[in-house]
Amino acid sequence: MKILVINSGSSSIKYQLFNMPSEEVICSGLVERIGLNNPKIKYKSQTEKIEKVCRISDHKTGLEKVVKFLLDEKVGVIKSTSEIGAVGHRVVHGGSTFSETVVINDVVKEKIKELFSLAPLHNPANYEGIIVAEEIFPEAKQVAVFDTAFHQTMPVEAYKYAIPNKFLDEYKIRRYGFHGTSHKYVAEQAIQYLGAENASKIVTIHLGGGCSMTAIKDGKSIDTSLGFGPVAGLIMGGRSGDIDQSIIFHLVNNLGYELNEVNNMLQKESGMVGLTDGLSDYRDIEAEAAAGDEKCQVALNMVAYRIKKYLGSYAAILNGLDAIVFTAGIGENSDVIRKLICENTDFLGIQLDEEKNDTRASEILEVQTATSKVKVLIIPTNEEVEIAKQSFELIN
Ligand code: ADP
Repeated sequence: MKILVINSGSSSIKYQLFNMPSEEVICSGLVERIGLNNPKIKYKSQTEKIEKVCRISDHKTGLEKVVKFLLDEKVGVIKSTSEIGAVGHRVVHGGSTFSETVVINDVVKEKIKELFSLAPLHNPANYEGIIVAEEIFPEAKQVAVFDTAFHQTMPVEAYKYAIPNKFLDEYKIRRYGFHGTSHKYVAEQAIQYLGAENASKIVTIHLGGGCSMTAIKDGKSIDTSLGFGPVAGLIMGGRSGDIDQSIIFHLVNNLGYELNEVNNMLQKESGMVGLTDGLSDYRDIEAEAAAGDEKCQVALNMVAYRIKKYLGSYAAILNGLDAIVFTAGIGENSDVIRKLICENTDFLGIQLDEEKNDTRASEILEVQTATSKVKVLIIPTNEEVEIAKQSFELIN
């Protein structure tokens, strides 16, 4: 069965076509800058690689252009859209409504719409992708895979905030967590690789544009560092991670800031961008730090320090550690960050082998010493294949 995976963002559509269950990638690509100037479509099959600038005013036009490539006589990979058995959609927020992957129907669409206010930047774009895909692939099953679903197994003491009960009961204010598809994928890879009995207590560390960590007991998320929205926990590219909320009230009540300005500051101008006066890519930050830039070095140390604090607390709630897993762009590629995090953690049983760590991963790697009690794994994440897998399993 051919399954098309779609990750529809506010101005982009990432797509990948899989043959399932073999997980073979038939083609993949990206439509970017939808509705902006110089929109571009990228298409890569096993034999072709094409980039084309064209007019793409909305998501419908974007997906139609993708389908044109898929069907093209010369470079295409299918003869008819009916060959696509299912379309798997990434949906960021499933609230408390969706604890697993679902086939999309009118009720599901209504519920996704009701969750717009919880993820105003993401869910409307994901929804738009669904509506467009239904029109273009009317014969395919449409499936929604939620970023929050994996974390729905968190116990109440992990997800509830210590504010009056009515805020949870009436307004659904609670920790949801994100990056669930990635945490689930790498945790399952780790369990398969190490064997379930050696991977009962895992911490997965997803470090990309957004960053989060999850404590995983016997394959289930029991706590995670992102919360109600996308700013909590670890220091990210442009997001602050945990701060004292009094800062917000002080800025607004005493220093004349508008609430929207503060929101923008915490979501876009903070994290590495704020700490390094403008850099967010770890390749640049590490190069500057190595050349003696103190702010960049402090930023890297702060990232590692925050992760180490979470690691300690997750080791405590898991009552031990079998493995830690690094994943996503930074986790897979930055030996510098992995080294800073694992320095002086031998009391937790973690010993990093610095030579093995000096690597970038394109497959599962173990980078601990021979005497380390805890396995230190680097596992490349693959959210698209996880979405294809879940879609395939659900409809079969
Ligand atoms: P996204 O959340 O946008 O999908 P990724 O998981 O692809 O992000 O991570 C992108 C980030 O990974 C880049 O911003 C960069 O900081 C980091 N990165 C990529 N390659 C390297 C590298 N070789 N060394 C250090 N960091 C890297």
